[in-house]
Amino acid sequence: MNIAPHLSSGSSRRLRWLLTLPKLGIVLLLAALIALLWLLHHNEAEEDRAALIKDVLWLEQNLQFHLNGNEEQLQLLAMEMGHSHDRKLFRLRAEHMLKNSPDIAQIIQFDAARQIVDAMPATRPPERDIEPFGPPVTAKAFDMASRLGKRQYSEPFFLEDNRAFIEMLVPIFSERRLTGMLAIVYPLDTLLASQVPWWFTEKYKVEIVDDNDIRYATKTYIEGNGDLRYEIPFDPPSAQLFLRVTSYHAPDNSLQRLLVAAIVLLAAGVFWSLWLVRDLMKKRVRAEDALRSEHAFRAAMEDSLTVGMRARDLLGRVVYVNPAFCRMTGFDAEELVGRSPPMPYWAPEQLEESYAMHQIVLAGEAPPDGFEITFMRKNGERFQALVYEAKLIDGNGKHTGWMASILDITERKRTEELARQQQEQLQFTSRLVTMGEMASTLAHELNQPLAAIASYNTGCLNVLNGGQADPRDIRPALEKIGLQAQRAGKIIRRVHDFVRKSEPKRAPCLLGEVIEDCLGFVEAEARKRHVRMECDIPPLPPVLADRLMLEQVLLNLIRNAMEAMAGVPESQRLIRITGAVGDSELSLHVADSGSGIAPEIRAKLFTAFFTTKPEGMGIGLSICRSIIEFHRGRLWVEDNLQSPTGSGTIFSLTLPLETA
Ligand code: ADP
Repeated sequence: MNIAPHLSSGSSRRLRWLLTLPKLGIVLLLAALIALLWLLHHNEAEEDRAALIKDVLWLEQNLQFHLNGNEEQLQLLAMEMGHSHDRKLFRLRAEHMLKNSPDIAQIIQFDAARQIVDAMPATRPPERDIEPFGPPVTAKAFDMASRLGKRQYSEPFFLEDNRAFIEMLVPIFSERRLTGMLAIVYPLDTLLASQVPWWFTEKYKVEIVDDNDIRYATKTYIEGNGDLRYEIPFDPPSAQLFLRVTSYHAPDNSLQRLLVAAIVLLAAGVFWSLWLVRDLMKKRVRAEDALRSEHAFRAAMEDSLTVGMRARDLLGRVVYVNPAFCRMTGFDAEELVGRSPPMPYWAPEQLEESYAMHQIVLAGEAPPDGFEITFMRKNGERFQALVYEAKLIDGNGKHTGWMASILDITERKRTEELARQQQEQLQFTSRLVTMGEMASTLAHELNQPLAAIASYNTGCLNVLNGGQADPRDIRPALEKIGLQAQRAGKIIRRVHDFVRKSEPKRAPCLLGEVIEDCLGFVEAEARKRHVRMECDIPPLPPVLADRLMLEQVLLNLIRNAMEAMAGVPESQRLIRITGAVGDSELSLHVADSGSGIAPEIRAKLFTAFFTTKPEGMGIGLSICRSIIEFHRGRLWVEDNLQSPTGSGTIFSLTLPLETA
């Protein structure tokens, strides 16, 4: 029983561990998944960024390549124009260039004094604006180009329709002298429109901005801002300009979000189910603990039982034996469980009886009050067992076998036997004592026939000595001598019978004869004590009893009655013995008119060695009661209310008739 709390705390600690581990695992798994998602996201962003940079670099190169191509062509034209004075050359080449580069708005030829010499196409709006040299930026670029003697881009500038332009100026030298300037006017939006391929604008928004975030040109399909953008200097044409490329495509996070949501949901689900499992496991542990303590309790109870328990199935096979039964028989449980008759603990000399009893039990006809049987221990020793058989009913109410509780009653039997022998000895002693007490009366009683015999004998001798003896005179005397001898013999036989030691044996006996014998015994004493004896007994059926024992009882009661009347006037000393037959028993009453019994001693009357007499032994009534109870009858005492003295006692006894 003590181990139950220990087990309980141990298992709950184990349970806590068991439940913490998966929780920890799930938290770690969740963290790992989120980290993985973050990494994926991060990688994707990195990849997107790398792709963007690659694309931007490509675009910038493409533009540079295009601008460089135009620049080369313009420089070639400038060189040619420096050497030749063919006026048609400009138009020819410019037309060719315009045809190949739709992004060029106009190609202008200036002279050294910054005057427009020619322009292709001549009617384009910039022509109007350029005169006189448009915004100052262009003039500045013209100066720079003419001073440095090499290609120069103008700073971007807006014209009235809010379009941004840029010019590329290439000086024309003739024999190391500036003779003019060639300029290509690029509207920046057209540059983007023609040079940024369609697939690029599908992915990105392309802008040309300066460091003040002024937007000069845009190519896009969609308005709005993406998260991812990249800028690189757009130099040439200008150190102030930047190509800004913005990715439309904001990384599509919906799948990730879905995944995260699914993971969170799943984790929540797992936590929830863990919670349920935790509850279930707790319940289970509680139930297990309860079961364990119940089991421990039952095992402890079982082990401490001194009654042997044995269960058999419906076929008579042993299915269980408890430690007490094993101790009783000396066999181990393993040696007994599974065994079918004959059982190893059956005494070989009683195999048949044991088997018959076994069959009776299996048939469900075992006596409900139990039965006694001789069993054999493993060491061959026999022992008396008291067996109670009961049906074995399982949890579903089904009869599954037989359960027996077995008591080793050898010791009890031995004690009972000893007590019985002692009782017998006591009874015998009591009879001897009674006889001792009656010896003088009996001697006196015996003296009478002996004296009569002696006097008849003397009379006979006298007749014979007279010499004329007539046998007719002697005969009656001799007959009387015979009668007196018979009387004396009867007295001696009675005494002999009474003090003879014999085993108690019940046989049918007539109570009338027993009473008569007793009266014969006490006759002399009654005479001596001047006690009148009345006997009113109807014809009684025989009872199954030990005659000697009944005689002892009656003698005891009659003598007690006589002694109780010692103080009563002689005329009122009366003992009445009456009897009656009932349905199932017959009763006998011994009534006296003696001193009666005081209420305070009534309870102690039948206890051994209780006496009120100076020389009494006090065992008479206790023996009487045990004898009557041995015969399954009752012995009790009442006041004699009809006594002539006003006091007196009635001792009554019953004897069952069915034993007859
Ligand atoms: P004992 O005769 O040796 O004393 P018993 O057991 O026969 O032992 O009697 C016990 C006591 O019961 C007697 O001492 C006596 O006091 C009382 N007793 C027995 N029979 C009678 C009776 N008929 N009337 C009054 N007292 C009685």
